[in-house]
Amino acid sequence: MIHPEQTTIQAEVHDPQILAQTRALLAACQSPREMQDAVLAAVARNEEWRGKRCLNLLAPEAPTSPTVRALLSSEVGTRAAEGHIGAVNRWFAGTKHIDEIEALCVELLKKVFAANYADHRLVASMIGNMAVYSALTEPGDMIMSIPQPVGGHSSNRYDGPAGVRGLKIVDIPFDPVELEVDLDLFRKVAPLVRPKLVALGASMTLFPFPLQAMHDIVAEWGGSVFFDGAHQLGLVAGGQFQDPLREGAAVLTGSAGKTFSGPQSGIMIWNDPRLTEPLTHSIFPVLAATHQVNRVAALAVSAAEMIAYGRVYMAQIVRNAQALGAALARRGIPVLAAHKGYTTTHQVIANVRAFGGGLEVAHRLARANIITNKNLIPGDQPDDWDRPNGLRIGTIEITRLGMHEAEMKTIADFIARILIEHVAPEDMVDDVIAFREAYQTLYYNFDNELPPHHS
Ligand SMILES: *Cc1c(COP(=O)(O)O)cnc(C)c1O
Repeated sequence: MIHPEQTTIQAEVHDPQILAQTRALLAACQSPREMQDAVLAAVARNEEWRGKRCLNLLAPEAPTSPTVRALLSSEVGTRAAEGHIGAVNRWFAGTKHIDEIEALCVELLKKVFAANYADHRLVASMIGNMAVYSALTEPGDMIMSIPQPVGGHSSNRYDGPAGVRGLKIVDIPFDPVELEVDLDLFRKVAPLVRPKLVALGASMTLFPFPLQAMHDIVAEWGGSVFFDGAHQLGLVAGGQFQDPLREGAAVLTGSAGKTFSGPQSGIMIWNDPRLTEPLTHSIFPVLAATHQVNRVAALAVSAAEMIAYGRVYMAQIVRNAQALGAALARRGIPVLAAHKGYTTTHQVIANVRAFGGGLEVAHRLARANIITNKNLIPGDQPDDWDRPNGLRIGTIEITRLGMHEAEMKTIADFIARILIEHVAPEDMVDDVIAFREAYQTLYYNFDNELPPHHS
């Protein structure tokens, strides 16, 4: 017989050593309060390190404004409010002020995106994608989506919601040099596949998509385009990226906590009244019940921030990414799409194969308090997910901290000293902390408004 504890340990997906250390730590606690203190201490350590001393260059991460952060611990976050807005639509009484908050959120989201409909109940964008697939497809349907090595996300592949829905998935042809959809090839392949849905948007995202043209192609057999704008959502809101609904997408989902810079969660918007019933029904009662009204309030405020500051904030994010790409390339670090200005988004992708690969480089930089992530790039295989050759760098947080193009040169210099000049990260960390010390205020919000010397 297998000892039950053994099976538990063997089946654990998490790093077994970290869990073992934690069990030892809890075993050494004299009381439950000490266990609480262990949690609080870890949170404080992260706040001190990542919050104050690191250059956080993760592309899917954004710091929220002081008001948004405060709302996340508000009283309303303890209230139950299943259902749609309005007394008759809810299961529970006592929701009159929750109705006000949620209606403000829905109407602010519609306003930011100039859309007819919006949903505010997605506790993750991933759940929004599941809702889209369950609303707009049947198991066995054919869809097309972007493969992972050129930026696709598991959401739209066999290992995510699209796969769970039982869809058949064909790759959207993607040009690995231009880092754009290969429209000519799509024109040939799509009529053979006749996909019901084409999923655009990606996690590695540098350039716009030929959305209108792809929409027109699939419209011939009644197919439609779904834009998974997890990353680009804030850029869309700030008018710095193509506007998917205006270019033919039937529905747009996105993460509220990436470029949109609100609470980590999801947003869905659409214009066609015929989609309201299926999309909304897939959200409630299927995928969301208690939907965190504190988060909804925070989302509403971040939508108001986007209306006020989105244009200038997002434009600076893009300018900073372009400046960072150029500065890294000048220091000898290969950056993708150099021939077309590196990027039109918040992301820059470096090929760090020559420096040991994405995993090794990301961890080396983290020892100098520079936080990035390994990323698949064209030429990598999906199986290389653990040790790919790319490094993804994003400019959301450094922009919100008030940095402009000049600071991008300094950051590129830190990275080059480690990768090109082989300076030990431990010898760089004090310089990074000293540089970061001057940037501790979050701008582009009603608390702190615009950063000084904004261009
Ligand atoms: C990040 C991401 C998601 C998941 O978003 P969450 O809000 O983290 O659930 C979905 N699709 C793409 C393309 C992404 O990059």
